[in-house]
Amino acid sequence: MLLAWPALACAFAAPHPGTDEPTSTRAAAFDATLRKVTGPESLDSSSDAYDADLERLRALLPADDPARDVRFRSVYCGSSKWKDIERGLEYSDTALKLARDARDPASEARAILCRTNYIQLTSGTQRGLPEVEKAIALLQEGQEPQLLAEALEMRGDLLSLLGEQAKAMLDFQRARAAYRQAGIDREVEPLMLSMAVAYRRMGDSEQAERLIRAALQRMQDRNDWEGVATYLIQLGFLQGESGSQDKAFATFREAERVARQHGDAYNRNAAMLGLAEAQIALGDPDGALAMLAQARAGFAADRDTSNDDMLLMLTGQALARQGQHTAALERYRQALPLIERNGNDRYLAMLYKAQAASQEALGWTASALSDYKRYADLQLKLQGKMRLEQGRMLEYEYEIRRRDFENRQLRAEADSKQQEVATLEAVRRWQSLAIVLAALFVALLSSLAWRQWRKSRHLRDLTLLDPLTGIANRPGIEREAARALDASARNGTPLSLLMLDLDHFKSINDRYGHAAGDKVLRATAAVWQAQLRGRDPLGRIGGEEFVVVCPDTTLEQALLVAGRLREAAHGLRFDDIDPALAVSVSIGAAQARKSGDSCDALIDRADAALYRAKQQGRDRVES
Ligand code: GH3
Ligand code: MG
Ligand code: MG
Repeated sequence: MLLAWPALACAFAAPHPGTDEPTSTRAAAFDATLRKVTGPESLDSSSDAYDADLERLRALLPADDPARDVRFRSVYCGSSKWKDIERGLEYSDTALKLARDARDPASEARAILCRTNYIQLTSGTQRGLPEVEKAIALLQEGQEPQLLAEALEMRGDLLSLLGEQAKAMLDFQRARAAYRQAGIDREVEPLMLSMAVAYRRMGDSEQAERLIRAALQRMQDRNDWEGVATYLIQLGFLQGESGSQDKAFATFREAERVARQHGDAYNRNAAMLGLAEAQIALGDPDGALAMLAQARAGFAADRDTSNDDMLLMLTGQALARQGQHTAALERYRQALPLIERNGNDRYLAMLYKAQAASQEALGWTASALSDYKRYADLQLKLQGKMRLEQGRMLEYEYEIRRRDFENRQLRAEADSKQQEVATLEAVRRWQSLAIVLAALFVALLSSLAWRQWRKSRHLRDLTLLDPLTGIANRPGIEREAARALDASARNGTPLSLLMLDLDHFKSINDRYGHAAGDKVLRATAAVWQAQLRGRDPLGRIGGEEFVVVCPDTTLEQALLVAGRLREAAHGLRFDDIDPALAVSVSIGAAQARKSGDSCDALIDRADAALYRAKQQGRDRVES
């Protein structure tokens, strides 16, 4: 596929008249290689192969060709040759400046993305975000869809790391669309991984595992061992988070083995971090500390400081497991500013919790309690955010299948309930130690939990209520009917059902307008509701169609109720609309069969009776 890169197209169409043959062949070879390292093919190449291509590109770069030099630098910036982060950052600074001067937006964006990687490594995740935004702004013209996709993917990764899963998912969806626009129709593995990680952080481990395993399979088919190790590590984290520490341990072991066999230092170190975490959870702090020492040495050899926060936190946790709480607290103290700099609330919550536990063990009740409160606050904030994020996603992203989403939300809801309960339990343990403080804390948490509960109750009510009249809607009244049928079958009591349909309602709408029609509907529902006084639930099942469920009521008694409702409709006055406006209703009544009846069958019979009432001239009751 030819990249839509205007400058390149020009170079092909009109070679400089003065250039001699060897130079222009060389330039053409350079351009072809450049297309290879920036085009779809680059997505599949292992990092060794990619580096080799970059070296080839470097050898092909024509002398005294500033335009190509700019393009070259923006790409070469990403070479893993830059083991030294400081030098990589320096190189990317120059590349960026040259691209800007040359007014080459694609190279500028590429250099920014490259530079963002280095900035994140030196200054934390949060600092990377505004940089990527700049790159995305430069690419909005749409001439570089693949680069735009890569930038969106990167922003998604950053947002996901910062806990903004819905925004991240949006970016991943957009990235996918941009890849397609670049002619890449297959799934792109790094994007699959990014989405899997976001799902994992959202608490949807099923979706996450599905994606990770699919990507892992592809890497194995392709003998891409770096990819295999990367996906195994992600799988390990997923298993650890869902509580299968044994499985996680085995997976990290395998990842470590693959990475070691293929000389993949980064993944080997990352796998060792994962192993240490699993060892801590499995009650082997000695093993964990030895593993962490190896990982620390490995990262240090690569001058990679991006995992220092995790190293410190895990070391602290292992020490705490050994009962060395003072030493553990010292590690947490060092980890705190690093985690804060990264702006990652999930890690921060983890840290406060671990810190509180060690302080509790040392008998520092007050500080333990205040750290526990910080932990609880963060947890609530994270859960609130998760729900908010999911809500936003529903609003904006229809492509994301609704059903998946609902499941996810239910699970998040259940998880957050569980964690609130766990928090409350932890607080109860402390009550004997610090009764007053703990009591205050309980009050705070339970008020939050209460509000939370009220909110979810309210939401549930809303889904069963008709917004116009405030009475039950179709699902709501069907639920009432099903319940009443159950009770009637259990207790052998009679049950009747009324179906009501306002007469010539269309003409009310036609004559006085829809708003007046609404008013009539509201008034009718209200007057019936008052008449029925709550023992017989009333619901609106369609435009001007209502149902009354009458438990403990024979057909004869139900006919009396129906008569009263018909009278009540007659009694309605709408002087502000038209004093002459009169409302009448046709009603069908049916009683549940003693032999047992389904909800649908009962409604059908009442409906048939209603039809007869309409046939026979309306404003009457039939059974
Ligand atoms: P019939 O006596 O045979 O029942 O005649 P009808 O006009 O009542 O019945 P039809 O089913 O033909 O029309 C029902 C009308 O109810 C049509 C629709 O415009 C109106 N309607 C449905 N929902 C609403 C609503 O929420 N508000 C208002 N104002 N009108 C509604
Ligand atoms: Mg009707
Ligand atoms: Mg009608």
